[in-house]
Amino acid sequence: MAVREIITLGHPTLRHKARKITKFGPEVKQLIDDMVETMRAAPGVGLAAPQVNVAERVIVIGLPEDEEEGTPAELYAFVNPEIVKTSRDVEEGQEGCLSVPGYLGEVSRHTWIVVRGQDAYGKPQRVRARDHLARIFQHEIDHLNGMLFIDRVTDPAKIHKITPEETAQPTAEAAEALALMDRAPVALS
Ligand code: ZN
Repeated sequence: MAVREIITLGHPTLRHKARKITKFGPEVKQLIDDMVETMRAAPGVGLAAPQVNVAERVIVIGLPEDEEEGTPAELYAFVNPEIVKTSRDVEEGQEGCLSVPGYLGEVSRHTWIVVRGQDAYGKPQRVRARDHLARIFQHEIDHLNGMLFIDRVTDPAKIHKITPEETAQPTAEAAEALALMDRAPVALS
């Protein structure tokens, strides 16, 4: 496994529609392993292949264990993920992105979704995700279509630069968004 470089806003790969994976060889497993390591090193809770300059439809999501909620750590790796069902309800929430460092924005997302795709070996898999997990899936799948969270912010007033003070002492809301999206406060300095 290896930590790969995360590309940022302005790099053309972030704006490409990623290719579907049709051949499941060892390089797909390698890519997923590297993405998991890169996500954890960032640290972040989600990563899409275009963020490591690979224009292919692969995402990984890793939620840490929540001792307060009593929920275990979760790890998802999806090849060719597709949202096949969505809630009617949407909810606004703060998002950040490892490829848009230093910014947070309010984005509307479905409160639950069903995602279908394949694993590293091409085996079909399906997950129903809600709340934060649903938000992260929607954020990462957007990356596969060349879309960033800043494109979904409807009002420029709903996007803001994280100030150095916030980095050192993030507001509770910012800290939560940073910890839960693919960007975490410790990575900001
Ligand atoms: Zn992102």
